[in-house]
Amino acid sequence: MKWLLLILALLSLPAGAEEPARLDLGGSALVATGRGWGGPKPLELRLSLTKAVPYRTYLVDGPPRLIVDLKGADLGLALPQDLFGADLSPAIRWGPYGRDWARVVVELPGPYRIDSAGQRARAALSQITVALAPVAAQDFAPRPSATAALRDLPEPADVPGPPPDEAFTVVLDPGHGGFDPGALAEGESEANLVLVFSLELRAALQARGVTVEMTRTDDSFVALERRMTTARQARADLFISLHADALPEGQAAGATIYVWNPAADARAADQLTLRHDRDDLLAGADLTGHDDALAGVLMDFARTDTQPRSESFARWLTSRMSLMGIGMHDRPVQRATYSVLKSPDIPSVLLELGFISDHDDRANLLNPQWRDRMVKAVSEAVVGWARDEAARAAMLRQ
Ligand SMILES: [Zn+2]
Repeated sequence: MKWLLLILALLSLPAGAEEPARLDLGGSALVATGRGWGGPKPLELRLSLTKAVPYRTYLVDGPPRLIVDLKGADLGLALPQDLFGADLSPAIRWGPYGRDWARVVVELPGPYRIDSAGQRARAALSQITVALAPVAAQDFAPRPSATAALRDLPEPADVPGPPPDEAFTVVLDPGHGGFDPGALAEGESEANLVLVFSLELRAALQARGVTVEMTRTDDSFVALERRMTTARQARADLFISLHADALPEGQAAGATIYVWNPAADARAADQLTLRHDRDDLLAGADLTGHDDALAGVLMDFARTDTQPRSESFARWLTSRMSLMGIGMHDRPVQRATYSVLKSPDIPSVLLELGFISDHDDRANLLNPQWRDRMVKAVSEAVVGWARDEAARAAMLRQ
């Protein structure tokens, strides 16, 4: 009987089934290979597989994307966002395609051409390398009829600009204000610099059809709870807290994004946590005792969905800032337990535009041209992320 079962099991295997080529995520990467001079940079996609496979690669439009189809490859459970350099692309997706193909879709930060594509096999590994160079819009040559061929894979909506149907609401939260000026350096206050930037960002977002609410529009004090309540009342799709803090000389420079993580080592970010939560402590608000056990469980539940979306927005931000040539911290995305990031159901980030204590960062914040680039980077990230979210939601509804 045992033998019969074994034979049946063997028979049920497809004849001639070969072990698929598997993706080696550790050996794969998306890398910028040169200077972009403020525009998109040359890129190289490297896919490492456990053996050589037939493949094809081409470009499609709306938005510009690189497609790599791999025959007989299994991308397994590897997550595209874990690909090294994934933040250089607004979105990367992959999955099975057709009967025994796998498809990799890399959204490009602008029009590109394929410079070269090749495969090199070595021992038990094979590497496919696709080199991409940015081109002018009129030189972009996507495959014309590819959209129809793409219907099997989750794709971003083929609609440029902000989400088409529903209004998308961002709440901008300029940090500090009123009796709390935030960090101070050389006669400048953080509260004022982030307010100026937030007002400029609001104008840019509104020009692109995004609804914007602000937690403050002048130099007044707003308690932390009030900031989150504003977001909730506005039914915010996204909450961005803007800061430009100070840290002792040499400790921090460049834009830095913080996302919520209850497991973050509180001590590591102590100076900033104290600073960010200080205004409420000064105002006498009691930040403790808000979460009883049940509320805690419910919040964790909501966060399971919200957390990856906050992190995905953080990747959009780093990608857009890098494309705009904005200097970033060595670790541009960090985790923290700042109170203002606590909303369990609204994707939230805290963006340090730079550090007021750093000479170059301070000069940037005071420079209208730099602010223009940063405003562009953030608004591009917001609109791109919103579009991606809308596409994802539409897919879930299907
Ligand atoms: Zn601050």
